[in-house]
Amino acid sequence: MGNGVKYLHEFLHQKTPESGTEMPAYYRDALAFNEKLLAFYFAVCFALIGISAHQWDWEPLAFFVVTIACMLNGRRMNARFNSAAYSIISIAWCWWHSVFLGWHYSGHLLLLPVMLLIFFNIYNPPWFKIGACVALFAFRMVLFSWSLNAVPVYTLGHTAGIVAQTVNSITLFAMLAVNAILFSSSIQATERKLRLDNQELHKEAGTDPLTRLPNRRAMIDEIEKFRKTFPTEPFCVAIADIDFFKKVNDTYGHNCGDYTLKTLADLFREKAKTDFSVCRWGGEEFCFFLPGKNIDQAWNVMFDLADAVKKMPLKFDGIEFSITITIGIEENDFRSPMEDILALADKKLYMGKISGRDKVVM
Ligand code: GH3
Ligand code: MG
Ligand code: MG
Repeated sequence: MGNGVKYLHEFLHQKTPESGTEMPAYYRDALAFNEKLLAFYFAVCFALIGISAHQWDWEPLAFFVVTIACMLNGRRMNARFNSAAYSIISIAWCWWHSVFLGWHYSGHLLLLPVMLLIFFNIYNPPWFKIGACVALFAFRMVLFSWSLNAVPVYTLGHTAGIVAQTVNSITLFAMLAVNAILFSSSIQATERKLRLDNQELHKEAGTDPLTRLPNRRAMIDEIEKFRKTFPTEPFCVAIADIDFFKKVNDTYGHNCGDYTLKTLADLFREKAKTDFSVCRWGGEEFCFFLPGKNIDQAWNVMFDLADAVKKMPLKFDGIEFSITITIGIEENDFRSPMEDILALADKKLYMGKISGRDKVVM
């Protein structure tokens, strides 16, 4: 009940895109299928009435011709016009069928695909959908009441009646089935695409564009998740900053600075297997997360890493150079908020800087 009210509320308040000519492919396909089937159905009805009533009536033929014209015109005209034409043809047929052949053969049920198409038309506002639904219902009830006392123009024989009911039922079921397939498959495809796009966006929002490493946000998420999942497990965080990086930029140019950051990120990525994960903290700073490690273990890992950085050959525009980094490490104390632990790591990094750089401070 609660969900029913929610869906109704959402339906009534849904935003309708501004009337456009570009209908979604699933809608155009459903419409094209219905029109083709309808044209075929009219041709069958024409033959059926002709054979059983021994009278070649022109109306089903007229419906056939108008539907074909509508189909051909539909390629040039927009789908909105075409769907209106399809609705009018169907409604007119339901009326004709009830008056000329009677109520019993279910021709009036071809109103249902009309309603389905109206509901799946993204340009129709909610009030129009509900209004159309009520109008179609009222129309059907009027036809029914009228047919209670009216005698159909043509009297179909027993066999012809069975054939008419069968043809009408097959047409209706085929239309509804194909429309349901087209509408639901498109919804699923859209949903799948939306989820994949969201996943991609989420990944992109947590990725630093230059180094392709996770960014600060993604790293904080990762640490917080670890803290929640393993509240008693130790871990360390470390912040590294390139020494005299401004000099690299000033001496060899900004592109060389970018190259250095990217090469350093590649090295970190390569080393970050199980011991730690790494992110670009900002500028020329990187942050490391060492789950399950106490501060001594973390120091060893970071010391080896700083050593690898020192030995890393850098070559840009034929110039060979190297860099060093300074690192501050802090261990989780199971009390302080993340910001405080990170601030302490940053403080140790600063201490490493003022005491000569190229150091790992714990
Ligand atoms: P220190 O040893 O004290 O850290 O000295 P430093 O020169 O590394 O520190 P400083 O903070 O003075 O300079 C950092 C430089 O990093 C300045 C900034 O232009 C550079 N930088 C930050 N982000 C980027 C980037 O994405 N690309 C490039 N090329 N340079 C960057
Ligand atoms: Mg810095
Ligand atoms: Mg620096």
